[in-house]
Amino acid sequence: MTPSGTTRYDAIVVGGGHNGLVAAAYLAKAGLRTVVCEARHVVGGAAVTEQPFGPDFKVTSLSYVVSLMPPRLVNDLRLVEHGYHVFPQGPYFVPREDGRFFQLPDDRRERYEAVEKWSAPDAEAMRRYDDWLDDLAGVLSPLLDEIPPKLGSRKPADVVEQLKLVRRLKDIDTRRAVEVTRLFTLSIADLLEDYFVDDAIKGVLSVSGVIGTWAGPRSSGTAYVMAHHHVGDIGGGQIGAWGFPRGGMGGVTSALASSARSFGVEIRTSAPVAHISTSGGSVTGVVLDSGEELTAPIVVSTTHPAIAFLRLVDRTALPPDFVSDIERWKSRSGTVKVNLALDTLPTFASHPSYDPQIHGGTIVLAETMDDVENAFQDAVAGRPSVRPFADICIPSVFDDSLAPPGKHVMSMFTQWVPHEWSAEPHVDDINAHADRVIARMEAVAPGFTKSILHRQVIGPHQMEHEYGLVGGNIFHGELSSSQLFHTRPAAGYADLRTPIRGLYQAGSATHGGGGVTGIPGHNVVRQIFKDRKQNAWRAKIGVARQH
Ligand SMILES: Cc1cc2nc3c(=O)[nH]c(=O)nc-3n(C[C@H](O)[C@H](O)[C@H](O)COP(=O)(O)OP(=O)(O)OC[C@H]3O[C@@H](n4cnc5c(N)ncnc54)[C@H](O)[C@@H]3O)c2cc1C
Repeated sequence: MTPSGTTRYDAIVVGGGHNGLVAAAYLAKAGLRTVVCEARHVVGGAAVTEQPFGPDFKVTSLSYVVSLMPPRLVNDLRLVEHGYHVFPQGPYFVPREDGRFFQLPDDRRERYEAVEKWSAPDAEAMRRYDDWLDDLAGVLSPLLDEIPPKLGSRKPADVVEQLKLVRRLKDIDTRRAVEVTRLFTLSIADLLEDYFVDDAIKGVLSVSGVIGTWAGPRSSGTAYVMAHHHVGDIGGGQIGAWGFPRGGMGGVTSALASSARSFGVEIRTSAPVAHISTSGGSVTGVVLDSGEELTAPIVVSTTHPAIAFLRLVDRTALPPDFVSDIERWKSRSGTVKVNLALDTLPTFASHPSYDPQIHGGTIVLAETMDDVENAFQDAVAGRPSVRPFADICIPSVFDDSLAPPGKHVMSMFTQWVPHEWSAEPHVDDINAHADRVIARMEAVAPGFTKSILHRQVIGPHQMEHEYGLVGGNIFHGELSSSQLFHTRPAAGYADLRTPIRGLYQAGSATHGGGGVTGIPGHNVVRQIFKDRKQNAWRAKIGVARQH
């Protein structure tokens, strides 16, 4: 503590979600005295395990599967030593109300056989689709890890970074340039209709194009949302590998917190930041809700950009065009998360026997692409979906730390309710939405409703007001082709810097975010050290600091 009563650090991280913890761990590993200030009583943000049903059950409150976190990060932060373990998830399983089921195994040979049995003409189409995606993911995946350069800037250092980007994209020839453009702009419906004829296949494949997004399968840009997940798979070096972290998603963030502490990070929970302080265009520290002042020459915000730049920083300290970019950042979703404790596993009418590949897979309630589109159109018209789609998993099939023997926890990711519901709790409406999802499950797994011991329903309002997900968007902003790479989240600042010297950003709204990737948290530290080096050199030659 300084004589004036403030506490001095080398770096302050605002927000103890996974990106904040990653950033803090790397900063401390490099020798900086670092503190994390988290508003909630627990770290983790949207990757958190909680116990709303008492001590017997652990619930992965919001996010539920991991895939996008690069192995390099897991190794650098020695996460396995800190308890990180992932159980591989089984494949897609689509139980249908007509008593049949459709399954999409991860293994390619098995997948083509399954498709062949279901719809013979689509087996060859599935091969061509996979090859097309693999090819594009191969050329695009290196970009996921990149810090985007300032496209359009004429400053020599920025031009050098732009040229490096062009070199990294050297594998994009004329044909691929067209295909990449199609991928970024098409709707997932238009893309799938180029390949497939069967409605059930198009239905299940459309889901990854709309997860967490305020867009239906017929909205342009949804092919890109699907690609984000696919590129992530390959970028992580483990194609198609989604899995359940031991202990729920909080298992990831508790391993990160433990790793960060081992490098010397101080983690403060129940420590909401009320203000990010600046002076003369540079950051100076933060003021907590309690009135306590912490000072540091580096502050990294990992909150939603609307929290950081429209509430915590004095707007007059920011250029108007930056503020207006943040104001028009799209952050809608209409997602509702339903978490259940179950007395027993569901018995599917179409596949009554227990199968870890089914009960431990992704159970999709979406029978056709129109089923998914209609659910979106309901919400666009201002009412919750009559037949909400759901992406469901039961992590306790593999992880016995989540529920007592024989009992289970189920995570139901469902869409849509009107995104405007982030403004009001709509408790009864949200519960009625959960009832409709449960009824859909009951229709394919009779007796399911009776097996429910407890339920928790988290709608857009709670996502915003309790978890800091403004507008209820699960990724701090819509994944769409208008919000990618150099546009995340404001023109000229996709490089994780901000208009304030020493203030950086590394939440999910920045490039590489959108899921539990840790990429922004890692990249921001690379950027900070690059800037420190440059600042030291500028100081030596007597030139003012730039960042
Ligand atoms: C329902 C749902 C399902 C999802 N499913 C998946 C999934 O299966 N797989 C996947 O990869 N991703 C999934 N996601 C997305 C993923 O969880 C997020 O993209 C990711 O967790 C965001 O991490 P973050 O660290 O960038 O931000 P956050 O986790 O949002 O962390 C930001 C932190 O800042 C804190 N904060 C806010 N304001 C302040 C303040 N003033 N002072 C101090 N702290 C503050 C918040 O409390 C929060 O802890 C899902 C998200 C949701 C909501």
